[in-house]
Amino acid sequence: MIVSQLDIPDKAIAVLESKGIRSLYPTQEQAIRAGVLEGANIVLSSPTASGKTLVAILTILKHVLEGKGIALYLTPLRALAAEKYDELRDLASSLGFKVALTTGDYDSSDPWLEDYEVIVTTNEKADSLIRHRAPWFSKVSLAIIDEVHLLGLDRRGPVLEMFIARLKRLKRDVQILALSATIRNIEDLASWLKAKPVVSDWRPVRLKEGVYYDGCIYFDSGEVIEVKKIGDPLVDLTLNGLNNKGQVLIFASTRAKAINYAKRLAPRVYSTLKQNEKGALIESSRSLLKIEKNNIVEKLANLLSMGVAFHHAGLSYSVRRYVEKLFKNNMIKVIVATPTLAAGVNLPARRVILADYRRFNVEIGRYEMIPVMEYKQMAGRAGRPQYDRYGEAILIAKTADELELLMEEYVNAIPERIVSKLASEPVLRGQLLASIASGFAGDEEDVIGLMKNTLFATQFDINSISPILKDALEFLTSEELVEKLNGKFRATDVGKRVAELYVTPQSAVTIIKGLVKKSKSSSIGYLHLITSTPDMPKLYLRRGERKNLLQLLYEVEDELIIEPSYDPSELEFFLAELKTAMVLEDWINEVTDDEIYEKYGIGPGDLYSLIQTAEWLLYSAYELAKLKGLIHHLLPLLSLRKRVKHGVKEELLELARIKGIGRVRARILFNAGFKRLEDIAKAEVSRLASLPLIGSSLAKRLKEAVIEGELDLGEEVEKESSEVTLDKYF
Ligand code: ADP
Repeated sequence: MIVSQLDIPDKAIAVLESKGIRSLYPTQEQAIRAGVLEGANIVLSSPTASGKTLVAILTILKHVLEGKGIALYLTPLRALAAEKYDELRDLASSLGFKVALTTGDYDSSDPWLEDYEVIVTTNEKADSLIRHRAPWFSKVSLAIIDEVHLLGLDRRGPVLEMFIARLKRLKRDVQILALSATIRNIEDLASWLKAKPVVSDWRPVRLKEGVYYDGCIYFDSGEVIEVKKIGDPLVDLTLNGLNNKGQVLIFASTRAKAINYAKRLAPRVYSTLKQNEKGALIESSRSLLKIEKNNIVEKLANLLSMGVAFHHAGLSYSVRRYVEKLFKNNMIKVIVATPTLAAGVNLPARRVILADYRRFNVEIGRYEMIPVMEYKQMAGRAGRPQYDRYGEAILIAKTADELELLMEEYVNAIPERIVSKLASEPVLRGQLLASIASGFAGDEEDVIGLMKNTLFATQFDINSISPILKDALEFLTSEELVEKLNGKFRATDVGKRVAELYVTPQSAVTIIKGLVKKSKSSSIGYLHLITSTPDMPKLYLRRGERKNLLQLLYEVEDELIIEPSYDPSELEFFLAELKTAMVLEDWINEVTDDEIYEKYGIGPGDLYSLIQTAEWLLYSAYELAKLKGLIHHLLPLLSLRKRVKHGVKEELLELARIKGIGRVRARILFNAGFKRLEDIAKAEVSRLASLPLIGSSLAKRLKEAVIEGELDLGEEVEKESSEVTLDKYF
């Protein structure tokens, strides 16, 4: 099928052709034949890189260019949202429609979005927008749900499930196009969404899956390839994979392993590089250090100059993007990543090696095999459409038995079924409160009506959820978040605010009770209060940390709002909360970034996500204190939020407001006697420029910023959506 035959406006065809898209991939053809351009709901399940995005784009173009309504594009990750946004914006500028990207701030209905025809966002942000009853929802005529298989995730799955249920309730005739990796029970999703299932296993580049054992790779097709044995299996497989301009992507189960493997491989990979490649890599590694400089990035830069990089969520967003860019340009030959990369942006390699297929699960305290779905997602990264005739995904076995096991459990296995995770009380509390507060559930009948719109209702007997719903409602009423009057539910003012703030009811209750209990607290007390809520991802204890944290607990115990539990089963968890609070406490006391990374075993990406979440919870605590009349907490919470935002002591808050100054330079200025904004406004540029790390152009800029009033007003708060959780496994 060729693009010019499609029933979309001519100008859209012309723009697509100008981008080299003339004929459709088989997967795309199947979706078109199933009626996606005529408004049919579709669940499209096909491998990575089989062209699902273009199906979404064609459907969006049909909607917006023919004036049918707003198209909503939902993705599970900010990075993916940004990627799709860029792709759509490019088309929009030639075709004259408007695309918006919205992620972050969960306490807003973003009325500005009304002027856009396409809105790209994350699942969590979409959920918060529908909770705020953003008025433009009534104009949404198309919802693209990317990576819909994530419905099966414990915490994040129900967010998406309930969002879709609410959307269907609000807009019965909305067209839904759900995109997914291969799943076993696509029929369940299709029947839930009243959609046609479209399944394809076509890939632009053939995928060979196999297992390495004792010098040979055994592929699913029966093909066996010999690998020269030089070092250990990982080294051998990597070097073999680099032959003929190959690139290798390795998945490791933990960050520490990712770094270790990268170190082990670097000298070997370096010896395969050409002279010009070595020179270019040295340049790139210098550029990396200009983006960010700290111990972790220095370690990375060092490896990078040898053609190898590690990649995990502990690295900051910009560093990760830079590494990805160098890999796409074929400068870096090998990336060793944690599995977060597999769910993220598109980054193919000819060979993908799964160095570990077991992972330690902290919650159950033992190693377990990763799900087939996750394996397939990683394996699916193999094969670069522009360069490779085929891609290879390889697991490593140490024994013949293991070879057999891996063939059976992964290579020849079918991914798991997607099962609704809605039937959990904590999940239902939040979802029910949101539904009641935003008018989706006025009485029991409405609640059941809404539940009938869920995947859960398609897969299970709807009555089986009733006892959990009842418990959840009881929690909400006993905690005064919801009231029941004459059979009707109504969210209380606090309940309404909790739903808008996008904190879980349990977090809100913990915060309110804590603030009521103590009339004032020190920073560590407040910080520990917020890190003890379920909305804060915890830093688990590393070996040897327990003793120090116990010592610390004795020292700060009197300052804590939440009393410690010395019950051995709970103490570990309590110490993890305390550790998380201590990272923030060190941060606001101006402990250097490197010291924090070293002391707590975290990276810049983790610190960033902790800061964002803490800011959000402190903002929520402030809002709840205001509503509850707990006025004595307001000023301390406000000041603490600002300190967390900037990472400074109280005395530095004024200078930290200057846009782009950063805490290190603010401290230098303060210590040199420039303590207030007016000191800077009055200062000679040459005097400011003489200070370390300032220089004349920055001195001029800072002075201008103060005079022009380019200051942080402390209004915006962004919560890192729960998508960016700290890896549980490091
Ligand atoms: P998926 O969403 O299934 O993972 P993508 O939509 O990202 O796959 O497509 C993978 C690559 O194939 C992209 O670089 C895209 O531009 C390209 N592509 C998709 N469809 C076509 C087509 N019909 N013709 C040429 N290139 C295409």
